[in-house]
Amino acid sequence: PQLANQIAAGEVVERPASVVKELLENSLDAGATKIEVDIEKGGHKRIRIKDNGSGIVKSELQLALSRHATSKITTLDDLEHILSLGFRGEALASISSVSRLTLTSRTQSQGEAWQAYCEGREMAVNIQPAAHPVGTTIDVADLFYNTPARRKFLRTEKTEFQHIEEVIKRIALSYPKVSFVLKHNDKVVKRFIADKAGSLATRIGAVVGQKFVQNAVHISTEYEGLHIDAWLGNEAMLRSSNDCQFSFVNGRGMRDKLIMHAIRQAYESVWGVVEQPSFVVYLTVNPKDVDVNVHPAKHEVRFQQGRLVHDFICKTVSDALHAMTD
Ligand code: ADP
Ligand code: MG
Repeated sequence: PQLANQIAAGEVVERPASVVKELLENSLDAGATKIEVDIEKGGHKRIRIKDNGSGIVKSELQLALSRHATSKITTLDDLEHILSLGFRGEALASISSVSRLTLTSRTQSQGEAWQAYCEGREMAVNIQPAAHPVGTTIDVADLFYNTPARRKFLRTEKTEFQHIEEVIKRIALSYPKVSFVLKHNDKVVKRFIADKAGSLATRIGAVVGQKFVQNAVHISTEYEGLHIDAWLGNEAMLRSSNDCQFSFVNGRGMRDKLIMHAIRQAYESVWGVVEQPSFVVYLTVNPKDVDVNVHPAKHEVRFQQGRLVHDFICKTVSDALHAMTD
C-alpha cells in the first residue's frame, strides 16, 4: 500500500504549497476558526498546521492516515453533493508516505490529546498520549526525504514559500470568518484576523491591501440565480500589480479561463487593451449548474451555461467600470 500511496502522492503532493493546501482544507472541513501555519525553510524542512477544529478521536487516528479513508462521504449520494473540500481520503496517506508526519489531536469529548507518528514507507503508526487543546496539529517534516527524484524538483526556499503564501491568500479570501497566522522560520509573515462580522472587505484589505479596498469599486448583483460580489480595481491600479487577480466560485478559489476572459473583456471595453486588471470576484451559482470537480488541482470549473455566466460577468463588470469613469 505504501507504493500506491507514493504514486497517489504524485498527484496530490506536488510541492510544499500543495501540502499546505490539503492540510488547510482539512482544518476548514473540521470547522476551525483559527489556523496557524508554521513553515521552515520554504516547507522543505517543516510544515506545521495547527487548528482549533473538531479534532480526531483516538480510535480514528490511524484510519485518518490510511488511503481512501474519508469521514466525509458515507453514501454515493454524498458524492454528488460534495460540500466539504476534501473527499478523496488521499491527502494524509499520500503526504505521510513522502514525509515524517506527526498528527496530534484532541476532541471536545476527550480529556487528553493523542499523537500518531508515521514515517515514510513504514505504515505502522505509533500512538501516544500528548498535550494539545481541542483541535489538530499536523506536522510534516522532511518532505520528499525518501523520494529524491521529487525532492530534486523543489525550487529555492523563497520560491516555495511564495507558492505557500499564494495558497494561504486565496484560502483566506474565501474564509473571512477564519483567522490565519503564517510564520516562516519563526517570524510572523502574515496575520489575517477575522473581524467580528467576518466581513469580506476587512479580509480583502488584509490580504490585498487597504489601498485596494479603499479605491476599488464594490459591486453586488444578482441575475437568474447568478450572484456576483466583486471589488474592481480602477484604471490607476491596472499596471500597479500583477498579483491581484482573485476569483472564487461558490467559495472556492479558481483561475478559471472563462471568468478571467469575461473580466478582461470588461476592462478592455472601458480602457482598451489592458495588461493586468486588479480584482477580487466572488461568483455564486447554483451548485447544480457547475461542475467543480473537472480539475480540482487546476482550479477550473465547468459551467452548465458558460455563455450566460460569461456575459453576466462581463456586462456587470463593464457597467460598474463605466459608471466609475463617468
Ligand atoms: P479527506 O479530507 O479527503 O477526507 P484526508 O486524507 O485529507 O482525506 O483526511 C482523512 C481524514 O482525516 C478526514 O476525512 C478527517 O476525518 C480527518 N482529518 C484530517 N485532518 C483533520 C483535521 N485538521 N481536523 C479533523 N479531522 C481531520
Ligand atoms: Mg482532505
